[in-house]
Amino acid sequence: MEELQATLEDREMAYEEVNHRFHELEQVYRDLEHVQRLKEDFLSMMSHEMRTPLTTLLLTTQSLQRWLMHAEQEWVPENTATFQKQFAKDLETIEQMGLRISRHVTDLLDAAHLRSDMFYLSRSPMNLVKLIRQIITQQEPVAARRIRLVSALDEMVGTWDEMRLEQVVGNLLTNALKYSDPSTEVVITLRYHFRAGRAQEVLIALQDQGPGISEEDLPHIFDRFYRASKQGDDTSASKSLGLGLYISAEIVKRHGGRIWVESGPGRGSTFFVALPLMESEMRFLPDADAELVM
Ligand code: ADP
Repeated sequence: MEELQATLEDREMAYEEVNHRFHELEQVYRDLEHVQRLKEDFLSMMSHEMRTPLTTLLLTTQSLQRWLMHAEQEWVPENTATFQKQFAKDLETIEQMGLRISRHVTDLLDAAHLRSDMFYLSRSPMNLVKLIRQIITQQEPVAARRIRLVSALDEMVGTWDEMRLEQVVGNLLTNALKYSDPSTEVVITLRYHFRAGRAQEVLIALQDQGPGISEEDLPHIFDRFYRASKQGDDTSASKSLGLGLYISAEIVKRHGGRIWVESGPGRGSTFFVALPLMESEMRFLPDADAELVM
């Protein structure tokens, strides 16, 4: 009798074990299905983001070829100005689309390198004020917008990766311009952050007067592939892969710095980047308690 009871108990335990494993496998299957769906969503989003500029690029090239044939066959000197104008316009479109595809490929490669930990910084002493002035000079004519720089100093030197910081500030500035009305101003403020009388880090603040970011989106905007397309118009959101802020945040973190945003619907957005200084680069203030802003 006892033997029978023991066998029944063993069977029950074995059944529970099988049941437990079955539920575990079910969960693994659901997780795999979810990953598969994410992969498919990503592939379809990426194909779309690549195909749109590629289609424009191909169509513009074909239109240019037709213009050229036309020009050869029906050339009259009075048409020179019209041809030149059309050529210049088409060439600019081709360049822009090529640049957009190239930016997507660079972002995808950066994201892959970050994931596989093959992303390296190349640091050397550099002047942040000079770099930001250069970025503003490049972007102002393209955006046809006014970008104001507020900095009490002409020189703020730190040992950072200049090309990578150009990418960070360029990304934040492109977003500020993209998500705000062309009639509004974008302001970049640079200052030292002092603690106990010592400038420990440099603070960059990028402020726009755009629609702001909703409470729901705010915790996710530095995530990979996150695009809060409800804000801004659909066309601008669809020009991106949602990698810019993720890559920027990783670059800042790898410098030992911090990145964050203050924003809310209807009150614009201010993105902050804090970059640490090396011991030899720290500036001192006579007032040891100053929590300064300069
Ligand atoms: P994207 O390339 O889509 O702009 P990002 O990673 O740079 O990707 O930004 C992620 C999302 O954060 C954007 O899709 C946008 O919704 C939101 N965002 C970023 N910057 C701003 C800004 N200055 N104002 C409002 N929304 C912003």
